[in-house]
Amino acid sequence: MALIVLWDIDHTLIDNAGVSKEIYAAAFEAATGSRPAEPAITQGRTDRLIMRDMFRRNGVDEPGWPAVEGALTEAGRAHLDVLRRRGTALPGVRSVLKEASMRAGWVSSVLTGNIAANARVKLSAFGLDALLDLPVGAYGADAEQRPHLVDIARHRTQRAHGLPPDTPVVLVGDTPRDVEAALTSSAHVIAVATGIDPPTALTAAGAPVVLPDLTDTARVLHLLEEVERG
Ligand SMILES: [Mg+2]
Repeated sequence: MALIVLWDIDHTLIDNAGVSKEIYAAAFEAATGSRPAEPAITQGRTDRLIMRDMFRRNGVDEPGWPAVEGALTEAGRAHLDVLRRRGTALPGVRSVLKEASMRAGWVSSVLTGNIAANARVKLSAFGLDALLDLPVGAYGADAEQRPHLVDIARHRTQRAHGLPPDTPVVLVGDTPRDVEAALTSSAHVIAVATGIDPPTALTAAGAPVVLPDLTDTARVLHLLEEVERG
């Protein structure tokens, strides 16, 4: 048996304490030469869409993606220390990631709107990067729409680990967009209400399970085992 577990990062594994918005603002300034009047709106979207929306709302032409990605990478690197100071790994996360990483047949990685470099910054700030198989994850530069990231991570994981195509995939995330991404790509989902969306919004999006947080390690593992058994 095998299982692919894909964790969202912001507000699922970590609280970035607003540093994420500062990274977008710094990248905007580096790419355009001016401070943004309008802040980034994130809500589970990919970095490409977050930055595009920010350029549009600030009334500036969108630079090419390579320049934007370079600015995001640099801004992420520059914010590592402040993220480490102000942010935190969310309760229960270290324990559940450790358990998942030790299960035979399980591949535990990320599905995130962050570009890969900044996903690594955010996880390494709290020592979580070593508990995840990051090369097989899917990131904000891989596609614009979150649902498209699921098949990217699924195929990377299957290829790297020699898993059959019908290996079950489960997403763990905090926004209706995480739920939508799973449900539109034949993946399972465990929603966790540690972001701004209340449990009712996650249920309304179609999540069959909404946890208050990830502190109940045994319950999370049990839910994952149920998906593995099919
Ligand atoms: Mg999130």
